[in-house]
Amino acid sequence: MNAPARPPRRLESYVCGAWTPGQKEGQELLDAATGAPVAYIDSSGLDFAAVLDHGRKAAGPKLRAMSFHERAEMLKALGLALMERKEEFYAESFRTGATRPDGWIDIEGGIGTMLTFASKGRRELPNTRVLTDGDLEILSKDGSFSAQHILSPLQGVAVHINAFNFPVWGMLEKIAPTLLAGVPCVVKPASQTAYLTELVVRRIVETGILPEGALQLICGSVGDMLDHLTGQDAVTFTGSAWTGRKLKSHPAVVANSVRFTMEADSLNASILGPDAVAGTPEFDLFVKEVAREMTVKAGQKCTAIRRVIAPRAQVPALVEALRDRLGKTALGLPDAEGTRMGPLASFDQREEVRERIRDLQAVAEIVAGNPDEVRLASGDAGAGAFLNPVLLYADKPFAAQPVHEVEAFGPVSTVLPYDDLGEAIELAQMGKGSLVSSVFTDDKAVAEEVVLGVAPHHGRVLIGNRASAKTSTGHGSPLAGLVHGGPGRAGGGEEMGGIRGVKHYMQRTAVQGAPRLLSAVTGRWIEGAEVQHDVHPFRKSLAELKIGDQLITAKRTVTKEDVEHFAHFTGDTFYAHMDEASAKANQFFDDRVAHGYLIASFAAGLFVEPNPGPVLANYGVDNMRFLTPVYFGDTLQVRLTCKEINPRANAEHGEVRWDCQVTNQDGAVVAQYDVLTMVAKTWPLQG
Ligand code: NDP
Repeated sequence: MNAPARPPRRLESYVCGAWTPGQKEGQELLDAATGAPVAYIDSSGLDFAAVLDHGRKAAGPKLRAMSFHERAEMLKALGLALMERKEEFYAESFRTGATRPDGWIDIEGGIGTMLTFASKGRRELPNTRVLTDGDLEILSKDGSFSAQHILSPLQGVAVHINAFNFPVWGMLEKIAPTLLAGVPCVVKPASQTAYLTELVVRRIVETGILPEGALQLICGSVGDMLDHLTGQDAVTFTGSAWTGRKLKSHPAVVANSVRFTMEADSLNASILGPDAVAGTPEFDLFVKEVAREMTVKAGQKCTAIRRVIAPRAQVPALVEALRDRLGKTALGLPDAEGTRMGPLASFDQREEVRERIRDLQAVAEIVAGNPDEVRLASGDAGAGAFLNPVLLYADKPFAAQPVHEVEAFGPVSTVLPYDDLGEAIELAQMGKGSLVSSVFTDDKAVAEEVVLGVAPHHGRVLIGNRASAKTSTGHGSPLAGLVHGGPGRAGGGEEMGGIRGVKHYMQRTAVQGAPRLLSAVTGRWIEGAEVQHDVHPFRKSLAELKIGDQLITAKRTVTKEDVEHFAHFTGDTFYAHMDEASAKANQFFDDRVAHGYLIASFAAGLFVEPNPGPVLANYGVDNMRFLTPVYFGDTLQVRLTCKEINPRANAEHGEVRWDCQVTNQDGAVVAQYDVLTMVAKTWPLQG
């Protein structure tokens, strides 16, 4: 059986606030496994310039008015709402040829990516609308002119053009960082599997969580949309290198310097280390990983292992183990019990893969599988785009150019032998830039040599061994916190990679001016900006506290007894504090010095307000530096200034960052750091 039959539906685009069908009936889309019609797709008649304008005008200002935390909360609510509806998505996903585990990567992997960005947004970004980037640059001797790099959201839209293989993840991994940045999106899924993306967007729109225009969907061609792009827009593309290059060189993209992120063909390699001979755990892990990468999503994964690089002496054992494993892969209907691999996405795709296998056969022999014969555990071989896994072997890998150039986007890999590790690295590099590479070894020297040799050619490198076998996320899994993208043939783009991925949709600007005005722009206190002195700032709740509230403390002289007491009390009897001759012999000191942590402790003693109050907890310090030695008899004083206030959504408190500067009797800065505290929104606490 397969997903319950239902009449094919006519897909609609969600544009300018309405679900809109194309003017024609459109292209018929078939169930990958049964050949039953699933949907019709067409976008003719849409006003693509108006779509971009709607995003820019209706949603852009609303998104930009929200803070990072508000946008992160929005993503969290959306992710949770989608998770509740996941079973409906799985049912539709079967029609694309995806098994339940394949669908898990696409559906729950996509929603999980959105939730990770939501969580990173709340934890790693301030609750502001603009980001500061790097330290303040002081440009004048008297501190009256400084500069700060800021990041602000682009005022256009991001057009996300996706491949057919991940109709849900492909959309969510792109829109999550974009929306967190404050930029509206237009999503154009690949036609073949657009019915699943359309269903998810319908559910997103129904939640009402996103501001209108923040997400629009084009089902079908994007028409002349690219003609209307401006320098405030961005395009991301996942698909074939040919289409990617065409879009990247589109006249409007070139003329307006539109940011273009491309992720295309990638001939990912996995290397079996010379130490990982048959019988070792690494050999077995390698076999499992290669077989998994060939069969998950029927090999239609941009990160799948296409080139299997192994020591020549291990090739017979490796081929035998892979042949055995791949031979047991039950090919059949995606939702049938026991199916391990579903069909390719379409007959066209299968024909394309068969042609690419023929290209590879010019330099490699098939050692497992037959591309022209289908062996099924369930389903009708004539009705679905089924293809059993095919393993090839190229005995002369340096002369096997097609293996390093042809991406057979299906369950196909080629084994390449190497005679020494340098050759293995060179072979991996012959992919001319890939998304990911992996090495299976338990040898530190091999890990170092391979990673340093292949890293410049890849966006991600995985080291597999026995110690990480149970916890490894695997060769083929892009993760929200890690870079996804690769140089050269892989497109030269970068997606996700944590908060760095959010910044792709923001402009970095160096803002120069007087500190008071720079501080007003960034919402952050900076050196030289205005300060206020009234009650002790620790007596103020978030409702009362202001950026620039400052405390200048009393003074405290550090004595020899203090240092010796601290040394014996903590056990830190390091010679620089305790042994005069050794301290003097040290090029950094003229005499015995106070401990840095003693200075920080005395500073806390000087700046705290000891009574119960709105400051709830101290949760750390950032960027602590001890800048001038403190000798016995030196007198310390602290200047504590409220630098950044981040009220937490859905909580009774927020985070406050304090600039803490400790000076000596000569005004020299002896220590500088940020103190991080949790502060109640109101005080006394309600309830
Ligand atoms: P395509 O490059 O044909 O399509 C990718 C996306 O671009 C689709 O959404 C497609 O829409 C869209 N597109 C195509 N032409 C245009 C255009 N002129 N203007 C705007 N958008 C356009 O790739 P496929 O998805 O069909 O896959 C083909 C091959 O690409 C695969 O066999 C595989 O080799 C490779 N591929 C590589 C991936 C990777 O990351 N390594 C991922 C996916 C594919 P539509 O579907 O409506 O034509």
